[in-house]
Formats: sequence, structure tokens, C-alpha cells
Amino acid sequence: MKKLFDSYGYNLSEKQLALFNDYYEILTEYNKKFNLTAITEKNEVYIKHFIDSLSGAEFVSGEKLTDIGSGGGFPSIPLKILLPEIKLTMVEATEKKCGFLRYAAKFLKLSEVTVVNARAEDIAKDKNFRESSDTVTARAVAKLDILSELCLPFVKKGGTFIAYKGKAEEELSAAENAVKTLGGEISEVKKFSLNGDERTLVVIKKVKNTPDVYPRTNAKIRKKPLS
Ligand code: SAH
Repeated sequence: MKKLFDSYGYNLSEKQLALFNDYYEILTEYNKKFNLTAITEKNEVYIKHFIDSLSGAEFVSGEKLTDIGSGGGFPSIPLKILLPEIKLTMVEATEKKCGFLRYAAKFLKLSEVTVVNARAEDIAKDKNFRESSDTVTARAVAKLDILSELCLPFVKKGGTFIAYKGKAEEELSAAENAVKTLGGEISEVKKFSLNGDERTLVVIKKVKNTPDVYPRTNAKIRKKPLS
């Protein structure tokens, strides 16, 4: 798969290539018992999960990265393989998925990885998490207005939230005020095509602290997204 990574501009070491290979193996093996991904064909997993996850790497800064709603480990495990020096926290609501994430971190011998089995909104006010991360990522978790309330409280002032999206115009305009209320500022919207699929990275800078009242409870967030 070296050629594939090369064609997307990722010049990986033998060790990194082996890690992606091992990750593919355990992901698809575990997937037979417990659903982590609808895609299992090797090339497709590499493009739609691995390469897609790496697309946000250029916006990662600082050492601490928190991924919200990691599922099978996207985008955070590919980012950790690319950037081994990051300290990674994965927050995932489903315990069985956390079981896989812990297993993957151990199997791939990834250091400085913490898996937290919780809903983001339930831990975002805890001082160990609040405004503690240089970078926060999330892919396929919620619409951008809701997602911003779940994720921006984790970002340090001066840090970055990277939302991985498909076609995002409508979500973006609906989320503009929510982002501002939560202390964020949309700094870049990067659109690209991945094997014919439209992808968008929404990059949000944290310019102010998030007011203490956010995030609200899950029920309130969903009933009345910030607008
Ligand atoms: N990011 C992965 C998984 C997407 S599916 C990927 O791109 O493939 C969404 C995941 O987010 C699910 O595993 C779900 O359990 C988790 N999730 C949804 N809401 C959450 C919340 N509020 N806090 C933590 N995890 C959440």
C-alpha cells in the first residue's frame, strides 16, 4: 500500500506501513463480531478510513489531541500512526467500541493513548478535560451545530477543532452562531475529492473560552441546537 499513501503525499516508513496493515487486520477481524465499519475491502478501508483520517493532519498542532466519538478509531488512530508524538485521548460512548480501541492501542503498541468510555457532554465540564486539548477531532458524530457544543469545550484557547465532513454547506451556515457562542471562529473550510466523494474539513480556532453553561445535557443539545 506504499504507492497508495505516496500518491496522496504521505511518505510513510516501513514501520508506519506495517502498523496500518496490522490495524486493517484487527479492524476487519473484530468487525466480524461487532460492527465497527461498513467498509471492509482493503483498498476502500485504506482510502475512505485511513487516507481520509490523515487529511486533517496538516491542521493538527500541539501535543495533546482528543478525538470525540472515535468508533473504530477514526480519525485518531491513523493520525497517531502518522504523528507518533501526539498524546491521544479517545472519547467513545459505547463500551464495546472502547474495548476495541484499547485492544488496538495495545496490539499496535501505541504509547500515550487513553480511551475514555463516556459521552463527551458528560465529561466536558471536568477540569481534566475542559479546555485541555491543543487539537480536537471528530468524524461522522453529529451535525456541526451539535458537534461544536460537544467538542469546542475540550479545546484550549488558541487550539483547533477539526470537523471531518462530507458535503457541509448547509451545516456550516446553520452552525455559524453556535461556533461563535462556544468561543470558536471558523478559520478554514477545506474541500477536496476523495475517490469521487466530496469531503470537507471544517477547521475552527478557539479564540475565547467556552461559557461555563456549555455543553448542556444531551437532551437539551438535541432538542434545541444552538443557533
Ligand atoms: N469517528 C468514527 C465513528 C463514527 S460513528 C468514524 O468516523 O468512523 C459515531 C460514534 O460516535 C459512535 O461510535 C458513537 O458511539 C459515538 N458517539 C456519538 N455521540 C457521542 C457522544 N456524545 N460522546 C461520545 N461518543 C459519541
